[in-house]
Amino acid sequence: MATAVAPKSSSLPQIRQTECFIGGRWTPSSSGKTFDTYNPATEEVIAQVADGQADDIDAAVRAARKQFDGGEWSKMDARDRGKLLYKLADLIEAEIDELAALETLNNGKPIRDSRAADLPLTIDCLRYYAGYADKIHGQTIPVRGNYFTYTRREPVGVVGQIIPWNFPMLMVAWKWGPALAAGCTIVMKPAEQTPLTCLRMARLAQKAGIPDGVINVVPGFGPTAGAPLVKHPGVDKIAFTGSTEVGRIIMRDAAQTMKRVTLELGGKSPNIVFDDADLDAAVAGAHFGLYFNQGQCCCAGSRLFVHDKLHDRFVDKIVSLNKTRKLGNPLDPATEQGPQVNKEQFDKILGYIESGKKEGASLLSGGNRFGTRGFFIEPTLFTGVQDEMTIAREEIFGPVMSILKFKDLDEIAARANNTTYGLAAAVWTRDIAKAHALAAKLRAGTVWINCYDVFDAAAPFGGFKMSGLGRELGEAALASYTEHKTVTVAL
Ligand code: NAP
Ligand code: MG
Repeated sequence: MATAVAPKSSSLPQIRQTECFIGGRWTPSSSGKTFDTYNPATEEVIAQVADGQADDIDAAVRAARKQFDGGEWSKMDARDRGKLLYKLADLIEAEIDELAALETLNNGKPIRDSRAADLPLTIDCLRYYAGYADKIHGQTIPVRGNYFTYTRREPVGVVGQIIPWNFPMLMVAWKWGPALAAGCTIVMKPAEQTPLTCLRMARLAQKAGIPDGVINVVPGFGPTAGAPLVKHPGVDKIAFTGSTEVGRIIMRDAAQTMKRVTLELGGKSPNIVFDDADLDAAVAGAHFGLYFNQGQCCCAGSRLFVHDKLHDRFVDKIVSLNKTRKLGNPLDPATEQGPQVNKEQFDKILGYIESGKKEGASLLSGGNRFGTRGFFIEPTLFTGVQDEMTIAREEIFGPVMSILKFKDLDEIAARANNTTYGLAAAVWTRDIAKAHALAAKLRAGTVWINCYDVFDAAAPFGGFKMSGLGRELGEAALASYTEHKTVTVAL
């Protein structure tokens, strides 16, 4: 069995930014501490990164506050803000290969994915919001009496943004795009596992001409950098993507100062395949919808309900796709699946595989570590999964597919909704009436019909129930970075 081997260091991307970026300056952590960041394909340390603490967060918030409360940024025309966002997108595009390689090096995702998905989506998102900067406006409202009333939409203020490691650059774009278009200033804490591309984007933002202090990045850990940001009285809003468990802590900590909060959290998304579906399209979509990004997607179709009549043919096809899936060095353009992001995730996923076996699901493919170095896990398939099994209830965040059987339309909506989560769902059928009927019944923020993981900067994304609060992308995200102000004049 092959192992993942990193290419010669000469072909690896340069690591240039490892310090905190505060007020336009690169500074070590106030404590002088650093932490190691890894290449998950080789388990080797690739850089030491500043371990930001409460003092660094405080300095970053002060820098952001200064720009917001009367700095250059607060006086800039919205159209010029838009131009700077376009410029940032252009600079990223000019370094697209280097940035894709850096993303792959730090996260482990195959270069074919970072180059074809993460980077283009990042650039597209920034351009989408660049176009919005000068189109955020209020209304004139007829009121009773001799008054004239209008609303203004003003930036919410200094925003704290805390992101995960599964789509490091794309999460930066989802957060910076609407915040900057709206005129906010930013303190971001990237995930401890994957700080490198975020720091590089901060450098490019400065090069684009975004004034110093508008974007500040403090790498570090959740409890020591993330929590002080959430509690800081100088921050007006927190935007968070990550686990439901931490989302709950953030909501609690933000309550003290009544911060605006948007949360994009976990999921256990149902993917429902009817017997009248286009079998090959459904197999390809379900395979992609689960194994893409090593299964590390909040919207992964991890409860795959397949109609009884189609089940066996469906399963055979998934097994054969898994057999030919190419795992290995993620920097190799032929690689389809890379390692999990770190040992913690790797162990957690192997634990879920054990629980699936113990609770009586049938393991049809995978189930083991791949190779001897790097956090690789074989694409794994369980059939005979029952609704109450742990692997059918908890977010696995790994390449583990669970197939559950179903027989009729009436049972499926209730089973699909029988979860605390509500992030995404999908339906595969040739019956368009059935598809729309089910789409309306599913308690999820996104429903895909005959497709999966179709994302666009213009299409809102977020969760029902414990999958979150508020929406990212589209006009919806913009709304969450603005406050409405009502102005009334006596005539
Ligand atoms: P996580 O702990 O929720 O981390 C997300 C972000 O929140 C990171 O930047 C993290 O810092 C920070 N954070 C942690 N504790 C915090 C606190 N008390 N206050 C403020 N910020 C805090 O997620 P994870 O540990 O990386 O992954 C655990 C599980 O979360 C995964 O297995 C998966 O199920 C889920 N997850 C979901 C998503 C998603 O897209 N919705 C993404 C990633 C993971 P650190 O870097 O120090 O952790
Ligand atoms: Mg964590």
